[in-house]
Amino acid sequence: MDYDILINKEHKLDRSFVPNDLIITDNNDDNFHNYKDPSLKPMISSAVWPYFQLMQEAALKEGFHIIIDSGYRSYDYQQVIWDKNVLEKGLEHTSKYVMMPGASEHQSGIAFDIAYFRNGAYTDDVTSDDPEYAWLIRNAHLYGFILRYPQGKEGITGINFEPWHFRFVGVELASYLFANDMTLEEYHLVKSQKDSSIKLA
Ligand SMILES: [Zn+2]
Repeated sequence: MDYDILINKEHKLDRSFVPNDLIITDNNDDNFHNYKDPSLKPMISSAVWPYFQLMQEAALKEGFHIIIDSGYRSYDYQQVIWDKNVLEKGLEHTSKYVMMPGASEHQSGIAFDIAYFRNGAYTDDVTSDDPEYAWLIRNAHLYGFILRYPQGKEGITGINFEPWHFRFVGVELASYLFANDMTLEEYHLVKSQKDSSIKLA
């Protein structure tokens, strides 16, 4: 998989797409399983996991315990979530707050939602006021990760601000996007314009 892949409502993954290198992650904290069904241990691409571990170690050194709360989700699982929401809340509400099957980055295995441990207590109540979040915003790009749906970019990503959702794009691209305050959508737009100007020249 190309780590700059754009996955959204206009660029969906095929139903048959399943990452071929998924591993079950270990959050190094038995407490986690007091809160989560062990069968729901988060899965992620084995190529991305070492980058997360490096980031996790660096954050731990500053007292922030960040974990992967939800990683890979299959197309079919997203379909279940989607159908349930449509039944309960209607199509309009669902399309605003839930990714349709194929449009969720979680199917890629290179995106995940975070949670924290604070003084040993698990919380998935992630907000932009959290010191852990502030640390991630400053440092995630050094490990190849981006905040995928930033505040103020809702009109570009088409997704509400999600302070918990991070995506691997590789260190080089993450650093570029960070330095230029760009989303993946903006990057692909610039890239496609460059490609077409090259063809014209
Ligand atoms: Zn997510």
